[in-house]
Amino acid sequence: MSLRVSVSARLLKMPGQCVCCSGNNETTKAAAFTRTTGVRVVRQDTRYWDFPHCYACLRHAETHAQMLKIRGQGAIATVAAPIIALFAFANVLWLVPATAAMVWAFYAVRQAKKLQARLSSEMQPKCSTQGPAVQYEGWQGSVHTFVFANDQYATLFQASNAKKLVG
Ligand SMILES: [Zn+2]
Ligand SMILES: [Zn+2]
Repeated sequence: MSLRVSVSARLLKMPGQCVCCSGNNETTKAAAFTRTTGVRVVRQDTRYWDFPHCYACLRHAETHAQMLKIRGQGAIATVAAPIIALFAFANVLWLVPATAAMVWAFYAVRQAKKLQARLSSEMQPKCSTQGPAVQYEGWQGSVHTFVFANDQYATLFQASNAKKLVG
């Protein structure tokens, strides 16, 4: 379950417990959103809010991000290898990058499995999700929207910012 919350505020009160596992508030991690506007002149505006985390949850969220990255690279290599291999009909030298892409694809699968195992060991029983427990979906004027993986934290967040809730 996840909960979407919108608040209209300049300042937000963050309940003092880990946003993922409801454990100790040991450090913070920013939930950021980048808005891109303009076509000819592209402007990027990034805003972020710091949410409390425990160190253990910071660690598994980082492992999760690494896993997604290597899976993505592996998927690209898997698609690219046979395409590159086709060029070998014209010039056999293309087999070199084709083989490299294939080796990389195999490596990525193995590495992703390792990270998956590490992730399982890093997760705690009370963790609400493997990845980021809060996502900042952006803003419209002074209204900011967040999605919480942890319903209990979301409820506390709503209570802490009761006067600023929208919708
Ligand atoms: Zn935690
Ligand atoms: Zn966690």
